[in-house]
Amino acid sequence: MSLLVVGSVAFDGIETPYGKRERTLGGAASYFALAASQFAPVRLVAIVGDDFTEKDAAVFRGRKIDLAGLEHAPGKTFFWAGRYSQNMNERTTLVTELNVFANFKPTLPKAYADSEFIFLGNIDPTLQRSVLGQVTRKPKVIGLDTMNYWIERTPAELRETLRQTQILMINDDETRQLTGEHNLLKAAKRIFAMGPKTLVIKRGEHGALMVHNKFFFSVPAYPLEEVHDPTGAGDSFAGGFMGYLASAGRISEDTLRRAMVYGSVLGSFTVEKFGVERLANLKRGEITARARLFSKLTSFKL
Ligand code: AMP
Repeated sequence: MSLLVVGSVAFDGIETPYGKRERTLGGAASYFALAASQFAPVRLVAIVGDDFTEKDAAVFRGRKIDLAGLEHAPGKTFFWAGRYSQNMNERTTLVTELNVFANFKPTLPKAYADSEFIFLGNIDPTLQRSVLGQVTRKPKVIGLDTMNYWIERTPAELRETLRQTQILMINDDETRQLTGEHNLLKAAKRIFAMGPKTLVIKRGEHGALMVHNKFFFSVPAYPLEEVHDPTGAGDSFAGGFMGYLASAGRISEDTLRRAMVYGSVLGSFTVEKFGVERLANLKRGEITARARLFSKLTSFKL
């Protein structure tokens, strides 16, 4: 089943203790689409400027990624730059130039209107909702990501969009900020009252925790000796998670648990190299092999 994603396609400048890239393809929707397309066809809704060439788009070609919803506008593509601390636990944003992203009004090609799996990437909640207004069939699942900026600046708009969402995928700080509750299980209950019935808390090197109104599930981050660039790990997690769900075609405790593992698998590959370099060369067999290692990593007898 097709999976629609709306979000940023960007050029990123990245500095980590392992090296530097001045300008490499990034953006949350890029990571999401590359990860999710390993499982299901992806429909990408985003905007780029006239500096985004066919060479830049090449990474999306030859995969199950439909670019009909990738709008080309006059001006420059969104640019973001960040630097990681020596232990990679802190990231300083050096530059955010919205450029064409500032006037982004997501418009769905007609063929996208029947999308049953939708992921609303981290953009203005009003724009996230405008995407839902353009689909003609009731989606099976709507997932959503957001960040402190929208939680602080547009709380009422975010609440309105959350009412229409089933799965919220955010990090622990955002969970606490959104609910005013430090304990993550209590915070999840508050989130359930806002609309979503599943909360996925992304915890970076500590893995991810899913709280559903009927069960919990936790996955570790895959242990790696070297993390070269953490950028996009959360977006790759979301892509693996939603892509797997779209391929399964239904939501159950089993499919949600496996989605958590595939999310963690895709996130773990992304951080092995800079930007989307690892996702661009990732084979389906590598995903299956690592998912098996996850199963071993977490199995035990009582
Ligand atoms: P993450 O590491 O999961 O926070 O995602 C990093 C990606 O988010 C980078 O590729 C950036 O291009 C993109 N990004 C950074 N700031 C924003 C923003 N304000 N809105 C949308 N995307 C952003």
